[in-house]
Amino acid sequence: MKEGQARDLVARLLGRDPWDRIENPPPFPLPRRLLLHICCGPCASSVVMRLKYDYGVDVCGFFSNPNILPREEYTLRRDGARRVAEILDIPLLEEPYEPELWSEWIRGYEGEPEGGERCRRCYSLRLKRTVLRAQREGYDSFSTTLSVSPHVSPLSISQAGREAVGSENPLFFWDESFRKRDGYRLSILLSKEWKLYRQNYCGCRPR
Ligand code: SF4
Repeated sequence: MKEGQARDLVARLLGRDPWDRIENPPPFPLPRRLLLHICCGPCASSVVMRLKYDYGVDVCGFFSNPNILPREEYTLRRDGARRVAEILDIPLLEEPYEPELWSEWIRGYEGEPEGGERCRRCYSLRLKRTVLRAQREGYDSFSTTLSVSPHVSPLSISQAGREAVGSENPLFFWDESFRKRDGYRLSILLSKEWKLYRQNYCGCRPR
């Protein structure tokens, strides 16, 4: 999708000029190439729009979510991420489905309530893998779509991202709560527009 088409689409859905970078410039220099951890298609939709069209960043998606159970659900979310990458014309890197890795990572915290230590470890695993892949592929920055969801604490994502990269690593963590500035609302509207699959649970507790 070209920038003009994206602008028209978002202006129609939100009913206002979509890009407000002039009023809300990022408080840091824009990175050159950013690896974006993507949890699902709906969350990717508005975040990729903002990074690519509003800020003009060269974005590559990264689907690495061993926390999603069962496999059928994982496939639905991965396919949603693929669809958004295709519509918005960005590359998408994927890692194999490894739920046993996630089980090992959260061992001992299985009984924690949602939003507690189990979730913090879950964010940490996915962002550490994003950092490793970003380094391996020569990216200079990374971020995640996880902060779009109103069910996720932005502070937890911020902490997980900073811990994943560490203080000595030159990789830049784009630490933004993407639900703000209509990010979450736009993700819902784009999901309807593109008929994306939207899950009704976080990932590890199928209902
Ligand atoms: S509820 Fe979500 S964030 Fe928390 S551990 Fe399960 S999949 Fe991970």
